[in-house]
Amino acid sequence: MPLERIATRNAEVGDGLSVRRALPGKQRRMVGAWCFLDHLGPIDYQAGGGLTVGPHPHIGLQTFTWMLEGEVIHRDSLGNQQTISPGQVNLMTAGGGISHSEDSPPGRGGRAHAVQLWIALDEAHRHGAPAFRNYPVLPVSDRDGCRITLLAGSLFGQRAPVEVFLPLLGVDIALQRATTLEVPLDPVFEHAALVLEGEVSIAGESAGPGMLVYLGSARDAVSLHCTAPARMVLIGGAPFGEDILLWWNFVARTQQELADAVHDWNHGTRFGEVHGSPSRRLVAPDVAQLKLRTPDR
Ligand code: MN
Repeated sequence: MPLERIATRNAEVGDGLSVRRALPGKQRRMVGAWCFLDHLGPIDYQAGGGLTVGPHPHIGLQTFTWMLEGEVIHRDSLGNQQTISPGQVNLMTAGGGISHSEDSPPGRGGRAHAVQLWIALDEAHRHGAPAFRNYPVLPVSDRDGCRITLLAGSLFGQRAPVEVFLPLLGVDIALQRATTLEVPLDPVFEHAALVLEGEVSIAGESAGPGMLVYLGSARDAVSLHCTAPARMVLIGGAPFGEDILLWWNFVARTQQELADAVHDWNHGTRFGEVHGSPSRRLVAPDVAQLKLRTPDR
């Protein structure tokens, strides 16, 4: 199938920090079970700036944070407090309900560069117990002038330890010089590539930051080429077989589930409490807005 070029849109997280949102979008809602993709930074921020996302809830998904530069402090309603550093993944499984906050370290300026993804949970897992885990070490290999970090799934004979429930691929590729890399793909998966820095030709399609290149499925490889150092992430997965409703921080199946989650968060009757975040607790948007939404896909 032909490639699709999908421009990211600007979105704000926390107190007005601008990010490039690649998923969901009008053209593509999901790539496999990956249902959300934000590229944050790189930015240099002053003390009090950076990421300031106060306590907020999630259901029906896993949040997947890949840190490239800087640090972020995660706190959640299970009592976890975890600083994520470059080269690490934070994976939070919301299951039937969890809340968390994400803040840059207080009292000093710094640099932030990260990718945050969400993974939709399937029916068998979306009501399960919440969980959180930091993965401090991921498989890294060097090949053809590229440093390849496996974030999820398996590639080039390595397997990421990150616990996901569906067949997925997530890989960070730092192209360190002018080079060409051939990446084998599972033809059952659909795939997409997002350039984070520099310019990369992806299956012949040149892209820079702000452009998601959707590759579709039925490919057994993709050729990457660059003429100067660049960095990108490649994601993939088996097409998600369930219709989802993605609204605010929730992934559900029915509007009633969304309405219940909004009510429970705003009334403090589910999702527990997050302690220690310097950022304000977020309020779920008016449930009346839900009536205006139509299902995704
Ligand atoms: Mn979150």
